[in-house]
Amino acid sequence: MPAAAPRIALFGGTFDPFHNGHLRMAIEVREALGLPGVSLLPSAQPPHKPLQPVTPADHRLAMTRAAAAGIEGLSVLDMELRREGPSYSLLSVLEVKAANPGAEVVFLLGADAFPEIGTWHRSGELLTACDFLLLPRPGTPPENAFPPGVRIEMEENRCYSCPGRAYRLPGGSRLLCPDLPVLDISSRSIREKVRKGRSIRGLVPPEVERYIASHGLYRGEERG
Ligand code: ATP
Repeated sequence: MPAAAPRIALFGGTFDPFHNGHLRMAIEVREALGLPGVSLLPSAQPPHKPLQPVTPADHRLAMTRAAAAGIEGLSVLDMELRREGPSYSLLSVLEVKAANPGAEVVFLLGADAFPEIGTWHRSGELLTACDFLLLPRPGTPPENAFPPGVRIEMEENRCYSCPGRAYRLPGGSRLLCPDLPVLDISSRSIREKVRKGRSIRGLVPPEVERYIASHGLYRGEERG
């Protein structure tokens, strides 16, 4: 039997800040799918949050790196900070595929984000460029997270090798909805707590908590 193609999991996000919801999801997915690693991909200029100024990308990258340091299988890619212009996920997926010929890329994203994917840059190409894995968000079960107008067919097949459901997108890519715990943590809620002087202990990794405090992040008005 030919060797299976190596699988690369990409977890893109604004990570403003990176929190324990992101961290647990990366670890849960890696373990549930038996992946060698999950690459965290901070967005430099998030194209889908244009009206919402975000914290400078070097801070967000530093927090993501601090959170991932020393955790088996987690790594951080800074390619979106090295590229000019808006951080289009398609370009990152293509760059990763070009650097890893033959690899299968699976892109992780929250059930709140997936319905919007039709509005992303060259979404038709993106939807065929890689597989997708939906992370559960409170209030949005994965089955309610399908983008309008995209025909999605249920697959008999398993969700790679873990409990959950699998679907097929029109271009042949797979959409995986593994059974994962729902963690009700958002970056917005962290920013709000810091602004109000409340504790964020337990919601972000300790390194991120220290970074936020020592750089005085999120003390001003919430943007957008
Ligand atoms: P904000 O509150 O500022 O909108 P966020 O917490 O959703 O931010 P992002 O950096 O925008 O964080 O998220 C990156 C990706 O991670 C998105 O696909 C998002 O849906 C997903 N995600 C964020 N938080 C969680 C969580 N607690 N559980 C599962 N997925 C999450």
